[in-house]
Amino acid sequence: MKELQEFGQIFFQETGLALLSRVPLSSYSSFRIGGPADYFLEVHQLSDLILAVQTARKHRCPFYVIGGGYNLLFDDAGYRGLIIRNSAAGLEIRSEQGYLEAASGTHLSALITQALAAGLAGLEFLAGIPGTVGGAVYGNAGAFGRAIGERVVGVTVLTADGREQTLGPAELCFDYRYSSLKKDHKIILKASLAVEPGSSKEIIKKIEEYLEQRASKHPPGETPCAGSYFKNIVLPGGRKIPAGQLLEQAGARGMRVGQAAVYPGHCNFIINLGQARARDVLILAAELKEKVWQTSGLALEEEVIFVPEDASML
Ligand SMILES: Cc1cc2nc3c(=O)[nH]c(=O)nc-3n(C[C@H](O)[C@H](O)[C@H](O)COP(=O)(O)OP(=O)(O)OC[C@H]3O[C@@H](n4cnc5c(N)ncnc54)[C@H](O)[C@@H]3O)c2cc1C
Repeated sequence: MKELQEFGQIFFQETGLALLSRVPLSSYSSFRIGGPADYFLEVHQLSDLILAVQTARKHRCPFYVIGGGYNLLFDDAGYRGLIIRNSAAGLEIRSEQGYLEAASGTHLSALITQALAAGLAGLEFLAGIPGTVGGAVYGNAGAFGRAIGERVVGVTVLTADGREQTLGPAELCFDYRYSSLKKDHKIILKASLAVEPGSSKEIIKKIEEYLEQRASKHPPGETPCAGSYFKNIVLPGGRKIPAGQLLEQAGARGMRVGQAAVYPGHCNFIINLGQARARDVLILAAELKEKVWQTSGLALEEEVIFVPEDASML
């Protein structure tokens, strides 16, 4: 504990940023699950994100950067190190060059609203996906057969050796719920997304259609969950089999472990009935995978990211 306090003091002396300690991570995940983080810091400026990451690296303090926490399952044991919540938001509209440049902590909802206000189209399919630009680029978030990667012109990252680097789509290797950022420890700072002039009426119409379709199959707003738990299966040739369909056929409906349950309206959502632990979710997910394997011979992969207590971006 003394060591913990000392690191907090050193961090403050070097950065002017005050770390919180023993912060329950359940408050920072839409699953509402997770034990305490030794240290926690929310940053509102990209310069603070960079400073925090560089200082943690300098002192070899394990750290993990999160956005909105909408795709995460934190460990019951919490996190041994520093969780950095990135709320560094901001948008520069460069419509004459055909793109918007968003700071990684900008929420997708703000991105869409501001694009609409500027009469810029192309990002409507992201409407209703919760989370930040950083989280979306990391996992190539998307819906209705489209994904953010197809709109990315470039991403500025902080490399492991502390340099800022701009990566183009070819280096980011976007694929279904995948970017090359999942392979290394680069911190996403900014993303440039292609847009084109559009009619506000048309943009609003599309957004409303997407939101309506989502409302019909997703759990209602405040249900604690982290979105689709498993990825859809992609067959050679590209055809997708929805994980929800495989789970339904395997008899997932009604299954639960402790306070973690399969959402009755859509079997690919695991929901927290109130007091679920990460352990409940992990056991339920393993049971679901086994059932699908037994009934279809197909291996489901998690879309939700489990963050063990010793995860690190050092
Ligand atoms: C109700 C609900 C519906 C959802 N629907 C969809 C959907 O339709 N489509 C879809 O794709 N997803 C969906 N999701 C999942 C989630 O919204 C997306 O995965 C989203 O992109 C997560 O963004 P986030 O900011 O919350 O990231 P987080 O959950 O905070 O983090 C996700 C990962 O990104 C990494 N990361 C975040 N920011 C940075 C950064 N700046 N630098 C480096 N790494 C970073 C984190 O380390 C972590 O590994 C849904 C979730 C919920 C709860």
